[in-house]
Amino acid sequence: MPHVVERASTGRAKCRGCGAAIARDTWRVGEAVPNMFADGENAETRHWYHPVCAAYRRPEVFLQALDGAEVRLDDHDRLIAAAQAGVTHARLPRIDKAERAASGRAACRHCKSPIPKDAWRLTLLYWEDGRYVPAGYLHPGCVDAYAGTRDVLDRVRHFTPDLSDADLGEVAAALATAVPRDERSS
Ligand SMILES: [Zn+2]
Ligand SMILES: [Zn+2]
Repeated sequence: MPHVVERASTGRAKCRGCGAAIARDTWRVGEAVPNMFADGENAETRHWYHPVCAAYRRPEVFLQALDGAEVRLDDHDRLIAAAQAGVTHARLPRIDKAERAASGRAACRHCKSPIPKDAWRLTLLYWEDGRYVPAGYLHPGCVDAYAGTRDVLDRVRHFTPDLSDADLGEVAAALATAVPRDERSS
């Protein structure tokens, strides 16, 4: 069963990328996945995504679903480019939200030094057993070294829709600033 892009026939499916419902008659991307609880005809099932969520979270699936499909998505070229970036930079799909650190206890996955309380941090997800699970945090300034690109603001904005313009400006500044060596513990 190939991955597909199609119009949602109902409004009941929830997006595996953002958790929100996918509106009826809008485009959705369906990833073919093994169904562990059945065999024969039902041996595969589908995980549904908004196109933008699939481009960010499941870039290979997105590109395969779009390949040869007679579909013109909103923001089509930007989504293709975002998915291609996610294939080129294999850790990029792990980058999720931006938030202020609730405590100073969590360490950055890249440099291992603590992220100060109230400082901006990026949340990470790991793909495990067919789904994304929370997997810690990054300094925004460590994202380039971790993921191979610091071009993550669009995806962070998408997965953190409650950020204000002022917040986004602070996150953008933090992304542009490598974490100084003297802030990294040995
Ligand atoms: Zn979504
Ligand atoms: Zn770091």
